[in-house]
Amino acid sequence: MISRKSRHANARPYIPFHVPWTDAREASRVARAVRSGWLTTGPLVHELEQKIARYVGARHAVALNSCTAALHLALAAAGVGPGDEVITSPYTFAATGETILYLGARPVFADIDPRTLNIDPREVERAVTRRTRAIVPVHIAGLPSDTKALDRLARKHRLWLIDDAAHALGTKVGAKHIGSLSDVTCFSFYATKNLTTGEGGMITLDDARLADRVRRLSLHGLSHDAWKRYSRAGSWRYDVVEVGYKDNMTDVAAAIGLAQFDKFGEMQRRRKRLAAYYDRSLGSLGAFELPARIPGTTHAWHLYILRLRPGMLRLGRDEVIEHLRRRGIGTSVHFQPLHLFSYYRKRFGYRAGSFPHTERESSRAISLPLYPGLRMSQAARIVQELSDLARRFRR
Ligand SMILES: *Cc1c(COP(=O)(O)O)cnc(C)c1O
Repeated sequence: MISRKSRHANARPYIPFHVPWTDAREASRVARAVRSGWLTTGPLVHELEQKIARYVGARHAVALNSCTAALHLALAAAGVGPGDEVITSPYTFAATGETILYLGARPVFADIDPRTLNIDPREVERAVTRRTRAIVPVHIAGLPSDTKALDRLARKHRLWLIDDAAHALGTKVGAKHIGSLSDVTCFSFYATKNLTTGEGGMITLDDARLADRVRRLSLHGLSHDAWKRYSRAGSWRYDVVEVGYKDNMTDVAAAIGLAQFDKFGEMQRRRKRLAAYYDRSLGSLGAFELPARIPGTTHAWHLYILRLRPGMLRLGRDEVIEHLRRRGIGTSVHFQPLHLFSYYRKRFGYRAGSFPHTERESSRAISLPLYPGLRMSQAARIVQELSDLARRFRR
């Protein structure tokens, strides 16, 4: 005989860290795209570009196959090359550093503000040298960086401001969207991001010539409009103007993106509601520090990064993650310090202590499940587990 309680425990379904909110709407759009016979870059990509550009308030948008490609091409179009330095945050995903390295430039890290987890403009200022060409802030979790201070610095030192906005579609500073506040903004539509095309990315910007350059670089450096060469308006003749890459978005991916865009408002409302619920329920437990909020800004809530309060629990961060996993709850860590990965240690000599705020905050961070399809009952279970844990392992 199996007791009611243990049967219940066994039957308790796993709550994954992330599940994309895709359904019949994406499926039917994709089916239509497939049936249309136009699979690669075409009218749907164009439509998604127009919609995102209008949404963020930028003149131009170029769709790409990832945010990694967006960062790479933005830096390339800005003229970043060998010997240059690009200042960015060590509290980020691998792509932010790698895209700088692709161009033979050096990623120079500036430590974060431990409250927001975003790059500290004072640290950026200290890192500027004669070789600095660009600043790449990351708006962690969807909380905006100090865009005003970064803009001032970029102007003062004549640097490009290129945002890694992989978390920040929907993030606003006052009434203005991330995507309209820097020279070039790079978004990600990866499967786990708050709007997805499976794999995908986009840059938004106001400069038409720069947009053309990125578009050309995304398609082998072929002369303008070469992507139309198989349509009635196109021509078989093209020129190769420079060495480019193969980073264009497909219409099949854009079809997913268009369905996601239609429900983006609803998705963001759900994220916001869940974040507010976590805030309300976890703040009083004493063991956890809640994500920062900044008055006058809109958080996109791509991630909910909880931090352990030092000295409050008998469990370390990794043990908390393992405990939750055994209790059927998936979590993640955003992010491990970039400068402490073996490549960066070996090549640039970074070590523990190089960026203390990043290291300290990273070591106590846990990202909780946060996605539009997460039911309130599931969120309540997560809260219950965390409060049980806080009580049981109180120091
Ligand atoms: C996801 C992510 C990227 C890369 O996005 P892709 O679309 O997967 O290339 C870059 N920067 C940050 C901060 C990210 O989280």
